Amino acid sequence: MRRGSWRIRILIGLAIVAFAFIRRCNNQEENPYTGRVQNIDMTAEQEIAIGLQSAPEMAQQHGGLYPDERMQSLVDAVGKKLVNNSIARETPYQYDFHLLADDQTINAFALPGGQCFITYALFSQLNEAQLAGVLGHEIAHVIGRHSAERIAESSFWQTLATGASVGGDMGSVVAGIGQNTLLKNGRGDELESDELGVQFMIQSGYDPYEMINVMEILKSAAGPNRVPEFQSTHPDPENRIEKIKEAIKKYSGR
Ligand SMILES: [Zn+2]
Repeated sequence: MRRGSWRIRILIGLAIVAFAFIRRCNNQEENPYTGRVQNIDMTAEQEIAIGLQSAPEMAQQHGGLYPDERMQSLVDAVGKKLVNNSIARETPYQYDFHLLADDQTINAFALPGGQCFITYALFSQLNEAQLAGVLGHEIAHVIGRHSAERIAESSFWQTLATGASVGGDMGSVVAGIGQNTLLKNGRGDELESDELGVQFMIQSGYDPYEMINVMEILKSAAGPNRVPEFQSTHPDPENRIEKIKEAIKKYSGR
């Protein structure tokens, strides 16, 4: 290729990279509930809408809702108690707690805006305080706006990778760095959710040490092939236990 066209490619690439950074700067906002500055480009209303829209499909993927109403209302009651006794009640989010029929996959997750889920496989191994620990962790994902932040971060890295491939065939290198960063940030989300989850447990009168027992349950459930999707998005339970102990000290002084 001639030198002149290389220069144009580099200039266009740099312009795309600059665009990615400017948009990222404009999207910085401080989360009023966690105090953390995040890169986010959607409103709370949009988060709620996305969550409500995807909830039925998520339930479907886990065998639908668990048929026993009494179990479902226990999950509801514990979830509501956590919301009403914590900062969650001051947020614009609409919290719903769903017990899923899936009795094979040990999992719990939250969609943006407040839709929280736990599978029967996990639920059936927990006492009430441990259930509160899991639901508190999921509420924290909502308040921490973790999904919305991941969406904004991945679009930032995509634009950056496009700029790098236009400007100098570096697209896959940048994309690789982006993937690693997203994965690392994902683990940070989990630790933030564990910490807030512990706080919500204490505020609702549950024994926060039960959160450590939840980690033990997850650890023993995580056999070689049993829950790969959970392991890939969640840090090692051992690592989480250390942080949970720190959080218990911080919020209860014990
Ligand atoms: Zn989580």
